[in-house]
Amino acid sequence: MTHAAGLIGPNAIIQFGEAVAALEGVAGRERLFDEAGQKAYLSHPPTALVPETDVLRLHAEFRRFATDNRRRSASWLAGRRTADYILAHRIPGFAQAIILSLPRFIAAPLLGAAIAKHAWTFTGSGRFQRGRGQGFSFEIQDCVLCRGLTSERAECEYYCGAFERLYAVLVDPDVKVVETACKASGGACCRFAFTWGEGIRRALSRALDPVGARAQQPNR
Ligand SMILES: [Zn+2]
Repeated sequence: MTHAAGLIGPNAIIQFGEAVAALEGVAGRERLFDEAGQKAYLSHPPTALVPETDVLRLHAEFRRFATDNRRRSASWLAGRRTADYILAHRIPGFAQAIILSLPRFIAAPLLGAAIAKHAWTFTGSGRFQRGRGQGFSFEIQDCVLCRGLTSERAECEYYCGAFERLYAVLVDPDVKVVETACKASGGACCRFAFTWGEGIRRALSRALDPVGARAQQPNR
């Protein structure tokens, strides 16, 4: 399925609002949606795709009165909440059980393929792809969240929170996801690099280089 141009899943609004309420209080959320001209979303939460421009506007308004740390935290938390929604409503229990039962070096790309298939729901007109080159990563071309922004730092914590939560629940509880390149800070695209906990790093090194891995772990 392809996305309609300029539209994105409603969680980009709903979960960002919930995250802002958690950090700034309900009054802070009211103020944000009011100043962004989107108060209707609070009385009637969206149930279908929403315009990307509404999401951009909400983030831009929040940038005007929230501290940098608070804004980044809200974005990350919104991503994590979106992942929790996906886990509760979009990935069937049997599919989660299968992923959880697999060796993590198989589960990681398998979940990546599933995310790629449904990426349009959270990237809108941005284009998701699994990263090429070293390490496990995802990339988003023409990312909606930092579109038009210029920043010294990466700006797309929302996706860090979403990817990290999905993989923490289904693949590796110790995974960390960091945006190592961002369009806003001069990158060709937004790139989200995964760092695994020790468990999966061992499994990966054994799978990719069994002789070398054994040599490094003579007691195993
Ligand atoms: Zn970015």
